[in-house]
Amino acid sequence: MTPIQKIPYFQKQLLDWYAVHHRPLPWRETSDPYRIWVSEVMLQQTQVRTVIPYYQEFTRRFPDVSSLAGAELQAVLKVWEGMGYYARARNLHRAAGIVMTRHGGRMPDDIRMIRQLPGVGAYIAAAVLSIAWGRPFAVVDGNVRRVLARLQKIDVPVNGSLSQKNIFTVSAENLLFKQAPGRFNQAMMELGALVCTPRGPGCGRCPAAGCCAAFLSGTVDQYPRRIRRPRTPEIHVATGVVHKGRKILITRRKPEGLLGGLWEFPGGKVRKGETAEAACEREIKEEVGLEVRADGHITRVRHAYTHFRIVMDVFHCRYLAGRVRLNGPVDFRWIRPGEIDAYPFPGANHKFIPLLKED
Ligand code: SF4
Repeated sequence: MTPIQKIPYFQKQLLDWYAVHHRPLPWRETSDPYRIWVSEVMLQQTQVRTVIPYYQEFTRRFPDVSSLAGAELQAVLKVWEGMGYYARARNLHRAAGIVMTRHGGRMPDDIRMIRQLPGVGAYIAAAVLSIAWGRPFAVVDGNVRRVLARLQKIDVPVNGSLSQKNIFTVSAENLLFKQAPGRFNQAMMELGALVCTPRGPGCGRCPAAGCCAAFLSGTVDQYPRRIRRPRTPEIHVATGVVHKGRKILITRRKPEGLLGGLWEFPGGKVRKGETAEAACEREIKEEVGLEVRADGHITRVRHAYTHFRIVMDVFHCRYLAGRVRLNGPVDFRWIRPGEIDAYPFPGANHKFIPLLKED
């Protein structure tokens, strides 16, 4: 590691660059801690381009903590629908309730208290406290780690253990411009997003080139260091759209865990040696207690989650017998295909839902 010698020079270069080149994003036009919190939660796992319309719609529907706390979870998930990582929305909703009951509707401005809110980790806490209140906490996300790794030739992997990640936090705290921490943090993230990008960084137009250890030693292509992870496993699943008269069956997942609280079509994993049709019929029997016949392949969709990928065969299923008895899901509805838009569904379901509306 090669620590930066001229920290004030680096800070000035970075802030001057940011003043001219930053993108005019909607959450940069506010100092409202609630809106900054919402934007940072969304930005944690989603790209800026995708977040903008979601942020605008979310803050239009829930303009303050009180309106979010008073909303039904399903309404919150519906606005979040398609952005993925739904635990973020559930935590935001739960945290808004806590802000109302324990903090009189005012976002806590204390690191210890804000960290106690569901879903508020070190990154969100530092972002909200520094941007909304000018508190001297350094924000460290993937962009910032990459910039730091190159600036100081840090040989620790950016995707390593927690203690390895802490090395980047210490490094960011050393560089932080404490007179304007919010602006400095946003400038670091912006530099990573616009100039010091993962591939082909724009060193020729970088404000930090004069003090960047990797650039000055001609080793930019060697940073950041990363641990290679094995490819995520692929799971084959079968899903059924059960038709009874003019209605189709949807079920709701339990509120916690992966995709918690969202609606979906019943189905599950295809076992070894089993056909997708047989798996679909078996899973529906086990999950909702209905006898069905899978008699029309609708499509095959692929979808990636953080730790696995799925290949999903989707079938039209004819209802044969039985009454719905739930084993796993917590709720169900028989709806007309035209009513689908009233319910929040996961991204994998959205890949075939348009085909149902054509029927
Ligand atoms: Fe990144 Fe290049 Fe700037 Fe160094 S000089 S911070 S490698 S863009």
